[in-house]
Amino acid sequence: MIMDSYCRCCGSKKYKIVAMLHNVDIAVCKVCGLAFVIRETKANSGSTYFSDFNLENYTTYYKDFREYYFKKHLDTLERLAAKGPILDIGCSFGWFLKIAKDSGWEAFGIEQTEDIARKASQEYGLDILSNLGDIDKFNKKFNAITLWNVLEHMAEPEEALKTLHSKLKDYGILVVSVPNINGLFYRLSFLSYRLSFGKFKFPLEQLYQAYNPYMHLFNYSVSTLSLMLKKSDFQTIKVFKQPVIDVKKIKYRLGIDCKLNFFSKYLLIILTKSVYFISRILYMDDEIVIYGRKTQVKAG
Ligand SMILES: [Zn+2]
Repeated sequence: MIMDSYCRCCGSKKYKIVAMLHNVDIAVCKVCGLAFVIRETKANSGSTYFSDFNLENYTTYYKDFREYYFKKHLDTLERLAAKGPILDIGCSFGWFLKIAKDSGWEAFGIEQTEDIARKASQEYGLDILSNLGDIDKFNKKFNAITLWNVLEHMAEPEEALKTLHSKLKDYGILVVSVPNINGLFYRLSFLSYRLSFGKFKFPLEQLYQAYNPYMHLFNYSVSTLSLMLKKSDFQTIKVFKQPVIDVKKIKYRLGIDCKLNFFSKYLLIILTKSVYFISRILYMDDEIVIYGRKTQVKAG
């Protein structure tokens, strides 16, 4: 079965295929520019998003890096919303919720990888459910809801956003971070794909996590994510761009999910670092964070 091929942002069925990767095509909406993946859906093989990763490497690489940005964003969030119940969707190891809890929030999470959710729950005393569909079990509305690097994996993002809208208090804040299709890594990866007539797929397949069953299904820009939020009755109030990689620890990132020989890895590290520094200077970072405020659903 082919995933429905229409734009989840504007509803248009007019799109063009811009890349053909492992098992998937990447399409771009001709009307609004949202990039989405067209693929055959597969039966759940029992694997999880984290099955592909060496968790030790993952933690070594990501924990400090993510925590650094989580603390910055929590500061921003606390200027926009009163402390109270907060929900993190796809909370994985609970790193963000732990910081929020320590700062005085009541922390709740949803994480579908059950052993990771259990670990987070035991380690930090968090209340975590495994499915967004069970959200009613929390039996409360939230002052803020966060989705850190999660929306791009969701097959029905607009449905998820509607659900989250209904679970936020009036004027509550939604924070969404996603990869930025206009970031320098993405632009160069698409460029190298085109210049090689579609033969050099490696960078795009890495960025889209094409070999992971929970790969990126959508690739947003500031404008398409804002449009998606607007459609779900959120007003964009703040936009940030930030790096998607921790350049100091890049060797761990490259060791996480690709098996390369020593020289290729060394070359890749130099290239990655160069692109990273240029993207910082040009403010073409590869991750977007948008803060949306819940607006009222229009009558009728
Ligand atoms: Zn569109």
